Amino acid sequence: MKPVAFEYERPRTIDAALEHLATAPNAKILAGGQTLGPMLNLRLVQPDLLIDITRIPELVSVSDEGDALKIGACVTHASIEDARVEDHANGYLRRVASGIAYRAVRTRGTLGGSLSHADPAADWLSALLVLKAELEITGLHGSRRVGLKKFVRGAMETDLSPEELLIAVHVPRSEKTARHGYYKICRKTGEFADAIGAVSFNPGSGGFCLVAAGGSEQPVTFESPENLFSQGDPLDPDSFDMPMAMDALREAGMEADDYELQVRAVAMSRAMQDAMSP
Ligand SMILES: Cc1cc2nc3c(=O)[nH]c(=O)nc-3n(C[C@H](O)[C@H](O)[C@H](O)COP(=O)(O)OP(=O)(O)OC[C@H]3O[C@@H](n4cnc5c(N)ncnc54)[C@H](O)[C@@H]3O)c2cc1C
Repeated sequence: MKPVAFEYERPRTIDAALEHLATAPNAKILAGGQTLGPMLNLRLVQPDLLIDITRIPELVSVSDEGDALKIGACVTHASIEDARVEDHANGYLRRVASGIAYRAVRTRGTLGGSLSHADPAADWLSALLVLKAELEITGLHGSRRVGLKKFVRGAMETDLSPEELLIAVHVPRSEKTARHGYYKICRKTGEFADAIGAVSFNPGSGGFCLVAAGGSEQPVTFESPENLFSQGDPLDPDSFDMPMAMDALREAGMEADDYELQVRAVAMSRAMQDAMSP
């Protein structure tokens, strides 16, 4: 099948993109096109206008804000994989990027496109939840910042209104002693995940965040290790307790069968091991 006929605009400024969004009610933002392309071909979306935002300089830039890194929404997965974006989380961002799909998809697919689509099985969603990323959103009536957890309302459902653009992702700078781990289980390398475990914690300050995701379920976040470790101590990944973790996932409302829960608990456990590896 082929897409319906549509107009195409490639604005050079955020304001021009917002003007297009405001004047064309049936418009769609185009970033890397890696999700939107197939949706157009299947006619799941039938826009009158595509607004290509990839030539807007602010959206492809990265800046150091001191306590956070500001990554433009159109920065590609490949740019992060190739270390063109500073990785203050000890290689965590690079590792996540390199596990997304395959290289051709990574050269086009963008951070902002992935988060705006909010597929629960997508990598950045889980990976950035544990880093407490905030999203910068702008519309004709002003800009706002929202935490990633609040931004995602459900599977493929976000806080973005049709007249708004996601312009940047603010990733708080990790403390030097922080540890990060990521583990993705999928049938073939580069596929969407059957299960994801992502963790960030700081043995010094005691901060802890572990995310389990996969399939079509919303990611589940644990902010304290007590319900997951038999000794309550994340510094000992061997004390990660599978039955406790499966119960915790159930209690958190993850609707999955025992096999799926077990696979997600395994991903969590391996993310912990990844975080503790030298
Ligand atoms: C074969 C294949 C395998 C894949 N495997 C994986 C995988 O393993 N893991 C993974 O995480 N992803 C995977 N993906 C998805 C890929 O990572 C895409 O990058 C991502 O889903 C969408 O990013 P995009 O830049 O291509 O966005 P687009 O496809 O251009 O847009 C996606 C949606 O977001 C909207 N949008 C885009 N940018 C913005 C913005 N700045 N503001 C507001 N709305 C916006 C668009 O209107 C559209 O609705 C895969 C894709 C393919 C084709």
